[in-house]
Amino acid sequence: MAANKILIVEDEAPIREMIAFHLARAGFETLEAPDCRVARQLLADEQPDLALIDWMLPDMSGLELTRMLKRDKANDDLFIIMLTARADEYDKVAGLESGADDYITKPFSPRELVARIQAVLRRTSSSDGETISSGVLQLDSAGHRVSANNNEVKLGPTEYRLLKFLMTHPDRVYGREQLLDRVWGANVYVEERTVDVHVRRLRKALAAQGADNYIQTVRGAGYRYSTRDT
Ligand code: CA
Repeated sequence: MAANKILIVEDEAPIREMIAFHLARAGFETLEAPDCRVARQLLADEQPDLALIDWMLPDMSGLELTRMLKRDKANDDLFIIMLTARADEYDKVAGLESGADDYITKPFSPRELVARIQAVLRRTSSSDGETISSGVLQLDSAGHRVSANNNEVKLGPTEYRLLKFLMTHPDRVYGREQLLDRVWGANVYVEERTVDVHVRRLRKALAAQGADNYIQTVRGAGYRYSTRDT
């Protein structure tokens, strides 16, 4: 299997080079960009699997770059981890709402960074056209089919996309607005309570197989997919 390609977008050369060194040592192929302009060029030319994007960049903020990339269908398979020196809650939320898959706060250890990258990339391989298994559920993304205990679960297209998104991002809470962005797509005007309607339908479809408790409500925050009981 080819090495995963990681694009490092960071203007501070010593930090960028340090990251590249450790990622290369961990077996990744690395690409380096000091600003958003170079980053966009490399994304188009090299199609990396994952981009590490620093929050503070000279020509555009990492947040704006992430939003811009996630709006473009060409980057549907690109995973993004934000690097931030700002650890407060507001920024974490803003980072994740921009479409980033994870964030890591500076300073971080190389080992922590490599572990976070590997965790995000594991989602790639499982969502890449093959079958995702989780608890009693199996989602065949090539055939757009879901089964539980070998029984087919009939889902509408929105329920299917919602389940696929949640299964590939387990054990994390997503607010209604985030789910609208990630499942329905940005710029689509849908009321937030639409999410609740589809979650209810999805649970109903999963209930026959005893898997409805995988879709968990987190009061005041949103929904989470987990095969563990809360
Ligand atoms: Ca920077």
